[in-house]
Amino acid sequence: MTQVLALSGGIGGAKLAVGLQHVLPPGELTVAVNTGDDFEHLGLAISPDIDTMLYTLSGLSNPELGWGRGNESWNFMAEIERLGGENWFRLGDKDLAVHIERTRRLNAGEKLSGITADFARHFGLLGRVVPMTNDLVRTMVITDEGTLDFQHYFVARRCEPVVKGLAYAGAADAQLGPLLQEASQDPSLQAIVICPSNPWLSIAPFLEIPAWRELLHEATAPVIAVSPLVNGQAVKGPTTKIMSELQLEQSSATIARFYEGIIDGFVLDPSEAHIVPEISVATHVTPTLMKTAADKQRLAREVLGFARSFSNL
Ligand code: GDP
Repeated sequence: MTQVLALSGGIGGAKLAVGLQHVLPPGELTVAVNTGDDFEHLGLAISPDIDTMLYTLSGLSNPELGWGRGNESWNFMAEIERLGGENWFRLGDKDLAVHIERTRRLNAGEKLSGITADFARHFGLLGRVVPMTNDLVRTMVITDEGTLDFQHYFVARRCEPVVKGLAYAGAADAQLGPLLQEASQDPSLQAIVICPSNPWLSIAPFLEIPAWRELLHEATAPVIAVSPLVNGQAVKGPTTKIMSELQLEQSSATIARFYEGIIDGFVLDPSEAHIVPEISVATHVTPTLMKTAADKQRLAREVLGFARSFSNL
């Protein structure tokens, strides 16, 4: 059963997902995760946002780095460096096992959704973590240095090139797997939550898939987005840098406009409350900075309470 279907990228989105997982009955959360950042590296199929979500929801993530596994060792990386191999994308030993096993199963013809569901089970999760699609979608960043694939822009070039535009190769033809169809049509579904992920890098890949747009339009449950901006700034990562490079005003009003036509409600931080009059959907103002487990759970409860207010109208 799915009470809440959440759409998420990696680190920012996973913070709210962990709160939702805590406050919902066991197993009633389905998180659909961006795969536009996925890539092949050293012959391995790497799905950074899926892995961040699996590690975060299972409590195995690395809180200092914000990505990868806690209690990680780096023997593989040290040996790759010794051999003069590529070392710009850091792969810890435990993390590596996930990529190797995923690659083996994909090469054997399995789907990413089935592999991810099994990994989630092995990590002890009761809810579902589902790739946004099993088809290949690749986020391309059009910059002043040319068009870069996502990880090249994000990790190798540390988001330094100026972004001129974004493209989501493969999205127009991508389909949704049965798990997502099922979750979106579940009669117990109370809310679809767009986590406070980067709209351009983490959520746009979903929205560029026609079947996702259709799912969001046709859903009977309210669609609620949480703004990733606090005090006009991204909490982490290049969201506001990209907004300014795309000549967009750095405020939650821009985020709400980005989601216009898709969302029924918008959650924003009190530091952004001055833009409420500019927003065309229902709003809910509540602190959105999630530092502690309590912050994540409180925001999750607020979002679900806001979602419930739509059925009371
Ligand atoms: P990535 O795929 O790992 O880059 O992660 P996401 O796209 O899921 O998250 C990046 C976004 O999360 C950034 O825009 C941040 O501003 C936002 N973010 C991170 N932590 C928080 C937080 O505590 N509160 C809110 N509201 N946004 C956050």
